[in-house]
Amino acid sequence: SFPFSNSSQNRNYGIAHSGYVPAAQGAPAMFHPPASESPGPSAPPASMFDSMPGYEGTVAGGGGGFLPPPMPAYPAPQPEPGPDQPHWNIPSITEDVAREAFIQFALRHCCYSSAPAKDGVITSMQPFNTYRYRLETFTESRSTEWSHEPYNGQPVDAYAQPPPGPWDIPAKTPSFFMAGKQIIKVPYTSSVKSCHMCLGMGRKPCRNCAGSGNKVCWVCNGSGLRQGHQQCHHCHGRGRENCNSCQGRGSRPCDTCRGQQQLLVYINLTIEWTNNSDDYVVEQSSGLQMKNLSKVSGKEVFRDSQHMVYPVMGFPDRTVVLAAQRLVSEHQSKYFQTSRIIQQRQTIELIPITKVTYMWKQKSHMFFVYGNEFAVNAEDYPATCCCCAIM
Ligand SMILES: [Zn+2]
Ligand SMILES: [Zn+2]
Ligand SMILES: [Zn+2]
Repeated sequence: SFPFSNSSQNRNYGIAHSGYVPAAQGAPAMFHPPASESPGPSAPPASMFDSMPGYEGTVAGGGGGFLPPPMPAYPAPQPEPGPDQPHWNIPSITEDVAREAFIQFALRHCCYSSAPAKDGVITSMQPFNTYRYRLETFTESRSTEWSHEPYNGQPVDAYAQPPPGPWDIPAKTPSFFMAGKQIIKVPYTSSVKSCHMCLGMGRKPCRNCAGSGNKVCWVCNGSGLRQGHQQCHHCHGRGRENCNSCQGRGSRPCDTCRGQQQLLVYINLTIEWTNNSDDYVVEQSSGLQMKNLSKVSGKEVFRDSQHMVYPVMGFPDRTVVLAAQRLVSEHQSKYFQTSRIIQQRQTIELIPITKVTYMWKQKSHMFFVYGNEFAVNAEDYPATCCCCAIM
């Protein structure tokens, strides 16, 4: 059975010995964030880390080196046929739907009177439907760092055989487009070292008493006497009392090795799955600000999910085609180097937008109803200050 099976970090770990790929194929260079070059004061000295084939650039402390994936060997993506001409002129919402959405909008604002929404007279309903193209790239990235924990008899396997390459270690990929993280102790990298913090003593001098085990008696302030020439009852005339933090021992168990004197030193592999998403929304001239549209969904008119997508072609709106080309190219150059692309998805949604004009007290006003959710935007709502009037 696998020697790490008692470690919770390795629950998903099931590598077979045959999975090892010789490091002679060339250990990948690592990308180091600058912070990893200067380990914190409590970081173990580099001499504590053995040289592990395939992991030469691994350092201790947070922000370990990111490992570029091996070059993928998949075929170039093939062009996909474009979607059918979608129904651009989807039926606009009815006046009843627009009014109901508008009333709900007024009711959600506690200081808005709902009278204009209920009694305003709708004079026109204009569609300004638009398209949203979205590209999602689901990536996996891997990084390593030296770690340590108190040694309590865990399996020690460094040099039993060369460690598997960082990208050869199997992991349980979460569902596509769902973020996730897994930390795995790299097999055949664990060794036992003397604790660097306590120099293998297992204990460190108590900071409270500077290692003496006692401190000045708080009752007599060190004199051993109380009022006149009476002996101090608290320290029995010693002038000092036992240190509470260390029970008079002058030292405390080392936090780093928890008193074990030794550390298990090993390489941790951190695997992270990320969904990287970018949108392009076709500009429309309704006057509704683009940022409102990020909160709503539309009717999906195109969906394509593959290992690597080819930019959508033949879509009637030329700006969507151009945006798809730009985003697909940007994502590939951005995520290719430092991560492995697991899956890509491109979608086009038709977002309905209706501009509603209405009359209220002889004045013309307007509001927008947009998205599948019938969201409402009404910046010139005419009766917003009933609270202010009371104040
Ligand atoms: Zn005393
Ligand atoms: Zn002490
Ligand atoms: Zn220690």
